[in-house]
Amino acid sequence: MEESSEHLKVAIRVRPILEIDKVQDTAVYLNENTIQVTDSTHMVTSSYDCVFSSDSTQQQVFEYVKKGIEGVSRGFNCTILAYGQTGSGKTYTMFGAEWESNNPAPQVYYQNRIPRPVKKTLPINTSKIGIIPSSILHLFQITKGKPLTIYCSFLQIYNEKIFDLLQNPNRDKPLSIREERDNGIFVENLAEYVVEKAEDCIFLLKQGDRNRVVRQTRFNHHSSRSHTIFQILIEGDKANKRGALKRAKMNLCDLAGSEKFDKEGSMVKDHIQEMNSINKSLTTLGKVISALAGNGTGHVPYRESKLTRLLQDSLAVNTRTILIATISPASIYVEETLNTLKFADRAK
Ligand code: ADP
Ligand code: MG
Repeated sequence: MEESSEHLKVAIRVRPILEIDKVQDTAVYLNENTIQVTDSTHMVTSSYDCVFSSDSTQQQVFEYVKKGIEGVSRGFNCTILAYGQTGSGKTYTMFGAEWESNNPAPQVYYQNRIPRPVKKTLPINTSKIGIIPSSILHLFQITKGKPLTIYCSFLQIYNEKIFDLLQNPNRDKPLSIREERDNGIFVENLAEYVVEKAEDCIFLLKQGDRNRVVRQTRFNHHSSRSHTIFQILIEGDKANKRGALKRAKMNLCDLAGSEKFDKEGSMVKDHIQEMNSINKSLTTLGKVISALAGNGTGHVPYRESKLTRLLQDSLAVNTRTILIATISPASIYVEETLNTLKFADRAK
């Protein structure tokens, strides 16, 4: 148990009541790391490694995951997953506030595997940025001057198909997962950009994010139906063999909305397929996380979904996994909030 708690952590983040909730009453009450969900029909209490209240800042949340990010520079993989219903704050937590609206159109289009100077860098407002940009800034800070190569890639899993957000904004060329003895698990033909500066990495993050958003507005909330993974791979200098870092991966995942679909309402075929894909991957993720937490038979069903297969070598050995489950405090979402907490309970 000692061991699994070091390698797998689960945090809950409650967002503030917002206008989008259309109600003011709260059903979520916090006492340190314990959450109580109470309304006229429920009273559930549960504790977690960490609970962030609606007053928590982006900086506080980043401080919590920072150790995992720092481990990457010493050869430990790190996987951070944001799980929760649509509108509960996953993207806010992973990317940041107003990330989308001040997301500038990229001015240049680069080619793969070439170090890329960025012509114009907009100032980064670090007060509201989420885990991904904060991790990038921190990682570059702590690896400065070290003989390392840093690569980044950005992908989306939609309907059990993997798409490159940097190379294939139209999402018409699904990619496959492969495994090699030396390279571990990787996505074949996924663009891995060599990045030399944090600004370059953020630039690519914004470019991919813009592609993600364009598709969303054109294709009806596509992004809440897909998993988005920003990956950073660090490789040590091959000439510098003794005791040096070989490679480590960081996976930063904004998962598909975990809400149950309205089974009563009429669903078009596309939605049924989306629902099945999301159910499959989130259910498998739940099983994998539960197995990693030391529950169950020991069999870990990585191969049952693209998401877990892709994360397979960054969920188990040598990895710190942090699940951040996001919830809304609003009373109207009690059912979804309880489902999210139930999922988070599996990681304990
Ligand atoms: P999700 O990605 O889970 O669908 P979002 O991150 O888009 O949800 O959040 C929904 C809305 O709530 C956004 O307008 C976002 O800015 C806001 N929001 C989410 N979490 C917070 C928070 N901790 N503090 C302030 N606003 C938040
Ligand atoms: Mg989102």
